[in-house]
Amino acid sequence: MQKSWVITIDGPAGSGKSTVAQMLAARLGAVFLDTGAMYRAVTAAAMERGADLDDAQSLQEVMETTEFHFEHKGPLLRALVDGRDFTDRIRDPEVTEKVRHVAGQPLLRERLVQMQRDFAARFPKVVAEGRDQGTVVFPQAQWKFFLEADVAERARRRQKDLAAAGRQITQKELESQILSRDNSDRHRQVGPLAAAADAIHIDSTSISAQQVVEKMLQIIHGEKHGGN
Ligand code: C5P
Repeated sequence: MQKSWVITIDGPAGSGKSTVAQMLAARLGAVFLDTGAMYRAVTAAAMERGADLDDAQSLQEVMETTEFHFEHKGPLLRALVDGRDFTDRIRDPEVTEKVRHVAGQPLLRERLVQMQRDFAARFPKVVAEGRDQGTVVFPQAQWKFFLEADVAERARRRQKDLAAAGRQITQKELESQILSRDNSDRHRQVGPLAAAADAIHIDSTSISAQQVVEKMLQIIHGEKHGGN
């Protein structure tokens, strides 16, 4: 591998991207860039301000008058909004439900894409995860992965995470939320959820995050096909 590189991991909600990206970054001595946290932070800030989420101008105003800062806190990305810690708040189901409004705004995406590139430029080795990392943000990435899993399995994983945080939601309800989020992520005009033409697809339905990481490491270290 070269001395400096970016690895991208894209995929739909609940496919295990964050867990896998954190583990892979730790194994390779890289930093982990959770780009969903950035879309979530802007959404949480807009909700707190009572901004009209359907109005591009209001969202733009929030973006321009709020200071967003992201830094590492152990393996996690800490989100600071005007100096306040929003790391937990951005995971609220209410934020998850509303994030599509921010994700669908071309000007906001432009700003966030620039923030992601600026963030990555500070580190030699980066594992970036999201929806558009291999297609839009880092088209020159050395390795691109696209992680998928059956919707039932994705809902089961999310249910487990939410239960750990004290929230009970039925599997059916979660499946429908995930499918609706996938649908808006796949069909927006800018930065849609998509696999880059040169991405390596991995299905994580019946394998653990650890096994996904081992597969990726084999590919990266040249024991399997793929990459540049
Ligand atoms: O990955 P996570 O579930 O935290 O992402 C939350 C939402 O942020 C996604 O459903 C998507 O709408 C948006 N997002 C995006 N582009 C990215 C990362 C996330 O549009 N690179």
